[in-house]
Amino acid sequence: MGAATGWARAESGSDGEWLVRTVPGAQATKVYRCPGCDHEIQPGVPHVVAWPADDMGSVEDRRHWHRACWQARDRRRPTRRR
Ligand SMILES: [Zn+2]
Repeated sequence: MGAATGWARAESGSDGEWLVRTVPGAQATKVYRCPGCDHEIQPGVPHVVAWPADDMGSVEDRRHWHRACWQARDRRRPTRRR
C-alpha cells in the first residue's frame, strides 16, 4: 500500500469496499456538500472522507460526508430487491 492509503481505513458495506478517513474539525477548513443529505458540511465540523477502495488513485472521487450520514448510507440507499 502506498502512502496515500496509510492514514485511511478500509470499510466494507453493502455498496462495496471503501477507504475512509476521519477529518478532525481542526482540519476541516472548507465547506463541502455531503452526498448523504445534500447539505453543507461547515468548516470546523468533524466529518469523514470516503472513496471507492478500487479507485484509490482518484483524489477527485473523494466525497466528504457527515459522520452520521456516512454510517446511515445503507439505510438511505435503495436496497437490492429480489
Ligand atoms: Zn450529511
